[in-house]
Amino acid sequence: MMRCAWMVAWAVVGLLAAPGAGAAEPMRALIVDGQNNHGNWPTTTKMMKSALEETGLFTVDVITHAPQGPDPSFRPDFARYAVVVSNFGHGAADWPEETRKAFEAYVAGGGGFVAVHAADNSFPSWPAYNEMIGLGGWGSRDERSGPYVYLDDEGRTVRDDSPGPGGNHGAQWAFPVIVRDSGHPITAGMPPVWLHVKDELYDKLRGPARNMQILATSRSDVTHRHEPMLIVVDHGKGRVFHTPMGHADESQECVGFITVFQRGTEWAATGKVTQKLPDDFPSAERTSSRPFGGR
Ligand SMILES: [Zn+2]
Repeated sequence: MMRCAWMVAWAVVGLLAAPGAGAAEPMRALIVDGQNNHGNWPTTTKMMKSALEETGLFTVDVITHAPQGPDPSFRPDFARYAVVVSNFGHGAADWPEETRKAFEAYVAGGGGFVAVHAADNSFPSWPAYNEMIGLGGWGSRDERSGPYVYLDDEGRTVRDDSPGPGGNHGAQWAFPVIVRDSGHPITAGMPPVWLHVKDELYDKLRGPARNMQILATSRSDVTHRHEPMLIVVDHGKGRVFHTPMGHADESQECVGFITVFQRGTEWAATGKVTQKLPDDFPSAERTSSRPFGGR
């Protein structure tokens, strides 16, 4: 009898401790930043922090790496967080080895990770990082990094191993996003096509692309192929949400971007999405923006 009560008590503790279970306590999210070829990164960090806080699901800390070169003091305690969001970008210095190892153990052990826009440019020679993001670009990425993955006009996934650089984009424009899996918690309830606010449309991303699912694509005006826009990756026991969208402030003011970021972060943290689609979500014909006032 005693043993039984003990087990029930443990089960209750386990439920309360599970991220998102009770919903009474917000989850802890961490945004890491500090080196990004996009000069607006301090603003986009504020925008992402605000987007997460406004869900009521998260409290958000920001840890900023030194602006140039390696930073031996960059040692976030990843284990304290349900999810980590990267606002690093192209050319970011490698994190200290101990920090890389801690981050690998964190995600493989069940932590959530979210990579936004140029975060998929970072760390081209860090194998575990490339496994987490599934696909990346620039930083000498090429066929050795893995296949160029896209969808053809029939919606079939193509893994193109032919030689060539990874990562490219054309001029910025407002482009349609085509949902490829409406059954996933991140995309559930979205219109099959919605118009994203002006952004860079990354193409020719390459990577290991293992345990990866493409939830949405956009047709590039450079490659005329359907390039992945919403990506999820299972990495060990962890979940990764990756979107190459989000170049400029205005791109991140898109209600479509805000929604996929909020939902993708909750999914990476818990494997579920409790957020309803907002009433001002874009349609196939019309973009929708929420101007950010917190600069
Ligand atoms: Zn960009």
